[in-house]
Amino acid sequence: MEKITYASLGSLGESFHHSFEEAALRVRSQLGQSHPMWINGRSVTSRSNFPDRSPAHTRLVLGRFAKGSAAQLREAIEGARKAFPAWRDLGWRQRIVLLRKAADLINQRQFELAAVLTLEVGKNRFEAIAEVSETADLITYYCDQLEKNGGYEIPMSLSASETTRSVLKPYGVWGVVSPFNFPMALAGGMAAGALVTGNTVVFKPASDTPFSGLKIAEIFRDAGLPTGVFHFITGGGGTLGREFLQNPNLDGLIFTGSRDVGLSLLHEFGQKRPRPCITEMGGKNPAVIMPSANLHHAVEGVYRSAFGMGGQKCSACSRLYVHRAIHKAFMEMLVAKTESCPIGDPLDRETFLGPLINEHAVDVYEHAVRQGKREGRVAYGGHVLKRDGFERGYFVEPTIIDRIPKSSSLFQDEFFAPVLAVAEVGSLEEAVRLANDSDYGLTAGIFTEDPAERDQFFRDVEAGVLYCNRRGGATTGAWPGVQSFGGWKCSGSSGKSALGPHYVTQFMREQSQTVIH
Ligand code: NAD
Repeated sequence: MEKITYASLGSLGESFHHSFEEAALRVRSQLGQSHPMWINGRSVTSRSNFPDRSPAHTRLVLGRFAKGSAAQLREAIEGARKAFPAWRDLGWRQRIVLLRKAADLINQRQFELAAVLTLEVGKNRFEAIAEVSETADLITYYCDQLEKNGGYEIPMSLSASETTRSVLKPYGVWGVVSPFNFPMALAGGMAAGALVTGNTVVFKPASDTPFSGLKIAEIFRDAGLPTGVFHFITGGGGTLGREFLQNPNLDGLIFTGSRDVGLSLLHEFGQKRPRPCITEMGGKNPAVIMPSANLHHAVEGVYRSAFGMGGQKCSACSRLYVHRAIHKAFMEMLVAKTESCPIGDPLDRETFLGPLINEHAVDVYEHAVRQGKREGRVAYGGHVLKRDGFERGYFVEPTIIDRIPKSSSLFQDEFFAPVLAVAEVGSLEEAVRLANDSDYGLTAGIFTEDPAERDQFFRDVEAGVLYCNRRGGATTGAWPGVQSFGGWKCSGSSGKSALGPHYVTQFMREQSQTVIH
């Protein structure tokens, strides 16, 4: 079957389902093994390990992964330092050949990789294949950027007696720390940005998703990256996090994950000497529905965005501001749509909503629902599902809580669960003020048929990614080279978005070279 693309995602036919199901059977037949780390081109085990369980069936152990130690992370960073000069000097043309090979391998293995995501993260098959395809396109896009910009060497001469050029050069060794929810696209994308620009990488996946991380490590290994250029280490964020922060041989750190961890890394990483720390963090993303909106499109956009992947997207819509004039009608339609949400085993073809990632996520969900019941009215959902096939997984109902006071922390805290907080607004000005009344600034969306309202929203909302009338997801969805994706305020520290034209430059520093003739 051909590579699935951004354009073909909406019309996947029978052959897609057949290939996915075959791959899922293959992957399931290989579960339960112990997996080593990958340091200096060698398989490395550790004294203790941890089980990686499927969130849909917690008795299903996908594999056992090493609890890497600080000493092993040190060894990986030293190896990456040794490998750096040769990788840098290989030049960008050779590097993109290898990285494009990695993208090709992802496309060749797309169904196996998608099945791993479904088993490990609980994504439905459409979300899973989309992430795999995005991972390949991220790597390709970053290679294209290097090529398009001629490796970022710019002549700047002023006169015949002097030749000057500006050159962007890699920093050295980067730590790459990824979250659980897009464990392939974010690991692959962040690592590719660092690698293509000539840095070497030590990569640590989230503890809930080491299997997806391993698959990305295998891709880079099989693409033929030289020994020591890419290292894969598994283990707890706390233990390894200290070493990532304190190791003087690390020249840069890129992290995607929660705000609290991101802010602490940002605060500490550059304390002894200036070194770049890129942190992409959480979101509390608002959607605004105006009276002129096509309500059918708005309902679908909000539903997909709030409940797709159980609200476990950094861009998930978790705040909704609905204009008073259409509030009642809109809420009735949204509740009706949500009632029909297919919840189930993410391997099943019909499933839209799979499980949450772990027990802690269910606790957070329950906490949010309790608060919602106290402060507002639960218009739909609010229950953890424990029977009828759901007893072994972390399944919850999509939940809509209406009539919450606008000052409530339900509009401020990121729950990373399918909980949508709703309030009525009287004007676009009020909606924009509330949208901006947040520490976060990742994504936001509006549904309106009035161009003046759209322009006002685009002008005034403080967030990195804005959408108008996006039926496929009110505040979600981005593709390399199509939508840049990065946060403002506490959602991101660099101001240069992933998936976009400025991303790769962050992994390099500028040098001016002048020759006097
Ligand atoms: P998390 O912050 O718990 O973990 C992210 C990574 O950091 C994991 O690999 C974890 O092991 C590691 N980690 C944990 N503590 C650490 C420490 N003290 N030092 C160093 N590393 C540490 O996040 P998560 O639960 O895996 O992911 C969900 C979060 O990620 C949400 O907040 C979501 O909004 C955010 N996210 C943001 C984006 C974006 O592009 N802005 C994309 C995806 C997810």
